[in-house]
Amino acid sequence: LGFLERAVSTAGDRAALLQDGLALRYDAFAAAAAALGRQLRALGAAGEGVAVLLPNSAELNVAVHAVWYASAKAVLFNPAYPVHELVPLLGDAAPRIVICSADAAAPLREAATSLGVAYLLTLGMHGEVTLDELSARPHLAPPPAPHPSDVAVLLYTGGTTGIAKGVEHSHASVVAMVEAMQLAWPTRYATETWLNVAPSFHVYGFLMGLMNPVAAAATLIPVARFKPDLVVDALASHRVTVFAGGPASLYGALLAAETFPSADLSSLRVCAAGGAPFPVELLARWQRAVGCAIREAYGMTEMAPITGNQHATLKSGSVGPALPGVELSIVDTELGTHVLGAGAAGEVRVRGAHLFRGYRGRADETAAALRDGWLHTGDIGYLDDDGYLFLVDRKKDLILVGGFNVYPREVEEVLIAHDAVREVAVLGAPDARKGEAVVAFVVLAKDATATVDDLHRHCAERLVTYKVPSRIELLDAVPRTAANKTDRRALRAILGALGALHDKET
Ligand code: ATP
Ligand code: MG
Repeated sequence: LGFLERAVSTAGDRAALLQDGLALRYDAFAAAAAALGRQLRALGAAGEGVAVLLPNSAELNVAVHAVWYASAKAVLFNPAYPVHELVPLLGDAAPRIVICSADAAAPLREAATSLGVAYLLTLGMHGEVTLDELSARPHLAPPPAPHPSDVAVLLYTGGTTGIAKGVEHSHASVVAMVEAMQLAWPTRYATETWLNVAPSFHVYGFLMGLMNPVAAAATLIPVARFKPDLVVDALASHRVTVFAGGPASLYGALLAAETFPSADLSSLRVCAAGGAPFPVELLARWQRAVGCAIREAYGMTEMAPITGNQHATLKSGSVGPALPGVELSIVDTELGTHVLGAGAAGEVRVRGAHLFRGYRGRADETAAALRDGWLHTGDIGYLDDDGYLFLVDRKKDLILVGGFNVYPREVEEVLIAHDAVREVAVLGAPDARKGEAVVAFVVLAKDATATVDDLHRHCAERLVTYKVPSRIELLDAVPRTAANKTDRRALRAILGALGALHDKET
């Protein structure tokens, strides 16, 4: 991709990655990535997928760049997934090599082997390979650059409208995404101190935690586990200039900043929110507490970013106008060909240089989403007279927990697999802290003795934490519509009534 090489040649002695007292310079970062890249090549990585299952860290950054030095495709998914959730993704992506932490390797090894993964490499403190060891290997020139149309990365969609799909981006489209991101959140070269809390397996974190900091030759502080107090502390003590996170993390940081007004955040110039809507009513509070405007962008795994809301012209409730280089129109929702005028709501349709190549192994879905070079986003919105985009319709059943998508069916399937469960319906309920919380309604089988705690444990063993219902309510029957589908509106009414009940009790 060339970003790392440019950083080495123009700012090789600049700190690239700060983590636990370790400061890796750009030249050492590139040397470590090249050394690991040679090892991956020796394991036959060229042209193949290499899954990197690591939390935000210096190791993750080195590993992903190593994959490119090995002329391989980087495959990213949530490293916090239990094996149960990783198996279908590994099956779909079919990587030749998996790189993970020593802790994650033990439970994963058997499943990975049976899925055809040839090598499982552990990287990090207790791994087979460590950053110290990589930096000590002889420095050799990196291998030749890949072809721009080769697949650089496989990123998975949020799974809102169905099963998560693998989105293939070429080296050329990654470069175009980085450039578009630079338009949404302009940064300066070789001067920024950059803190990212957005998870790098999601397109937003991929750009704000792996690509753009390197493209800007910034000093990056990768944050794996978001703890608001520690993050606000780090923002102040490192004099951070660029802060990127999802809306839920920014909200957490806002509360911490308001609690500790003595924290000096005057160094912040760019505060980036992406991936999900940032509550309009918090923008002014953020500006007051932090002294820097939040800029929001709208995008998706298939193409990111699409719009950017610049602070000077910020319109409340809008995600901003299309970024330069992005063509955007609103089309009718039936055929998707008739372009609608200002004020009329329809499906958002976009195209540009950073459009994805296709969904891995899903020709039909690729053809449905990509028509005549346009991406049909599945989002409903309208443009105002100034060309600002307003998104009006959330995809119906999605639950957004702290910025993470939870697809109700996935949780329902885990619960229904329990012997004691006869019927189940899962939906989101408003939650002050996380935006939404997962609520499960369960009808127990006759004579079942399982308790709510048992069901909760059953979920916690099979699902990543944010998907585990924070509330499980027992019902005599799940309300049904005339077509015998779960009646979510009736369930919301029940939830409202239960909420009122709980309020009275406390
Ligand atoms: P799937 O494609 O698997 O159904 P998904 O579309 O939720 O899942 P992502 O690519 O992670 O997966 O998310 C993109 C979507 O997130 C957009 O289509 C849009 O609905 C929503 N989104 C992204 N940014 C914003 C924003 N700033 N404001 C409102 N919604 C946003
Ligand atoms: Mg989508």
